[in-house]
Amino acid sequence: MKHIEVAIVGAGVAGLAAAGALNTQNYMIFEKSRGPGGRLASKRINNLRVDIGAQFFTARDPLFQKVVSDAVSAGFVKCWRPRMGTFFNGYATASPDSQERFVGAPYMNAMGHYLARSLTISTQLRVATIHHDGDVFHLKLTDSEVYTASKVLVTVPVTQMTSLLSSFDVRDIASRFTMEPTWTVVSDIEAPLTDQHNNPLDALFGGDHNIFDFISTEISKPGRESSYVVIHAKPVWSTNHGEDEPVSVQKQINSALETTFGVSANPVIAHRWRFARPTDPTLTTQKGVFEVNDGLWVAGDYLAGGRVEGAYLSGIEAAGLLNR
Ligand SMILES: Cc1cc2nc3c(=O)[nH]c(=O)nc-3n(C[C@H](O)[C@H](O)[C@H](O)COP(=O)(O)OP(=O)(O)OC[C@H]3O[C@@H](n4cnc5c(N)ncnc54)[C@H](O)[C@@H]3O)c2cc1C
Repeated sequence: MKHIEVAIVGAGVAGLAAAGALNTQNYMIFEKSRGPGGRLASKRINNLRVDIGAQFFTARDPLFQKVVSDAVSAGFVKCWRPRMGTFFNGYATASPDSQERFVGAPYMNAMGHYLARSLTISTQLRVATIHHDGDVFHLKLTDSEVYTASKVLVTVPVTQMTSLLSSFDVRDIASRFTMEPTWTVVSDIEAPLTDQHNNPLDALFGGDHNIFDFISTEISKPGRESSYVVIHAKPVWSTNHGEDEPVSVQKQINSALETTFGVSANPVIAHRWRFARPTDPTLTTQKGVFEVNDGLWVAGDYLAGGRVEGAYLSGIEAAGLLNR
């Protein structure tokens, strides 16, 4: 049985930020998927990578502004200046704003790779359960391998955290913090998206549309060349269609896109995010971290406002506790 000083579960933004700020090299990051980034996800479609999770991020806190500025200088992140729109009375309407937005380049996951650049990540290792025994925590993986650790940070979404930590009392946090699903569809459009007056639009907030939550065109983002458009459905719509077959969701959302914009579009994929965003992003814990047990903390976006920036700050805060 291998012993480590610090075990971090999850190589999303929170886990990567925490690992990067540790003052020990005796750590392991357990990540169930094939690479870092978590919900800063991009999927390979026809030899192109398309952003299917977060579409952009903002930076308001000086600490996050600094890391974003460093990532921009290193070429992993670029500014994105889309011609913004929203839906008003169901119609696409231009809504220019001065918000500074950032994207990973050439795909969102590049920000994950930037945060991971000097870290060692153990990928395709899924933690099944964690329990406390004497002075150490036991992390049992789904392949039955067991690791022990003196300190543990769990950064997976809240529902998954609850099942990992079923031998601890996490009822309070699990009852207060919940997450909502999102259906994401990628379609290939044959003409640009425009508002009702034919002004071109690169991205739209859902406004009062009953299906669309956010739409963005890949071509408007630095480093992308495809005619793909990514559509996130509203949480309510995604919940109501939670058990629909992907092909049915693809058809429904693609057809709404065609009708709304009067364009021809071919549906490409549908992806179901079971735990996309927190239900109430205004609900946070102090500093975005929660101590479950002496030496065991949970962190992640759901405790810190539900965005990339919140996940980063939560991870940094957790590192301060792990370093004590
Ligand atoms: C559809 C969608 C749209 C979004 N839009 C935006 C946006 O526009 N702007 C914005 O700022 N944010 C947006 N977000 C939110 C943003 O992506 C998240 O806030 C942020 O990426 C969360 O990071 P995290 O580290 O807290 O969690 P995650 O990214 O979920 O990281 C958790 C990691 O843990 C791993 N994991 C889970 N279970 C286990 C296990 N048992 N063992 C090992 N590893 C495990 C996962 O594979 C994952 O890599 C969006 C998210 C989605 C899904």
